[in-house]
Amino acid sequence: MRTLPLFLALALGAPLVAQAPAAPAAPAKIHKVEKLSDRAYAIFGQGGNIGLFVGDQEAVLVDTQFARLVPGLFEAIASVTDKPIRFLVNTHHHGDHVGGNALVASKVQAIIAHANVRRRMEAEQAKLDPAQRGGLPTLLLGEKDSAKPARLDLRLPGLEVHIVHRSAAHTDGDLILGLPGDRVMHLGDLMFLGMLPFIDAKDGAGSFKGLVDTVAWLASWIPEDVKVIPGHGPLCGKKEVLRYRDFLKALQAHAAARPGTSSADLAASFDVAAWPEWKPTATFVTWETLFDAVTERGPGRVVRP
Ligand SMILES: [Zn+2]
Repeated sequence: MRTLPLFLALALGAPLVAQAPAAPAAPAKIHKVEKLSDRAYAIFGQGGNIGLFVGDQEAVLVDTQFARLVPGLFEAIASVTDKPIRFLVNTHHHGDHVGGNALVASKVQAIIAHANVRRRMEAEQAKLDPAQRGGLPTLLLGEKDSAKPARLDLRLPGLEVHIVHRSAAHTDGDLILGLPGDRVMHLGDLMFLGMLPFIDAKDGAGSFKGLVDTVAWLASWIPEDVKVIPGHGPLCGKKEVLRYRDFLKALQAHAAARPGTSSADLAASFDVAAWPEWKPTATFVTWETLFDAVTERGPGRVVRP
């Protein structure tokens, strides 16, 4: 969700003083695996939800949460497949989605991400001791201009994965993954469920308008029986995506009807009770900071001094 250099340093398992990182401490068993189809699993831990897609010969992993959790993540993966992870795909650059990359990199043929994800991770890692760097994406799609759509298909034995960038939304490097044969999708942080959505409008060049457009586009064609892994929150389906689209459009319409109104006043006058699935977080995304993102006036989250 966040991109603070300190956050990334911690995510990479690095101590705060400049020295070689210690081996990650063995974590408690926190991972929970849920099966979506014969080929698709979601792995819940801490941070962004992980996807695991398993073909006849190899597997594709989607996001890595945090370095300290990677040993437990490998255990969770081993509980459902012994096939090698051939590709890692990052849905975007935030530390709770790429934090374990450096520990997964040596096991995969390529780390796939949007070009802006590599650019942002390189900039973050330039601030770190060289021993603490690693796990950068190696197979890139998309262009620096995040308005340009991009697509990459993986055709592996028994597994077809579509990887799509539509526009800037949560960040300027968002990817959506789809398994057409299984009607499974991983939406990354384009979709938050249970908490207000975060649009990383400042540091990540995200766009609320792009988020609305992308979610509306998804809602227009996803099949009735689609199974969705959101970036944060529980597994869901088309009903929740349609509802999310309506929620985003309601936010947009509320602000558009009240030009010049402060985010605090927009938040106070919005019918929050009508949207109980999305709850504010006092230290992260509040209704006011969400309206900052809607009106392009702020970073979309609480910024501590
Ligand atoms: Zn994020």
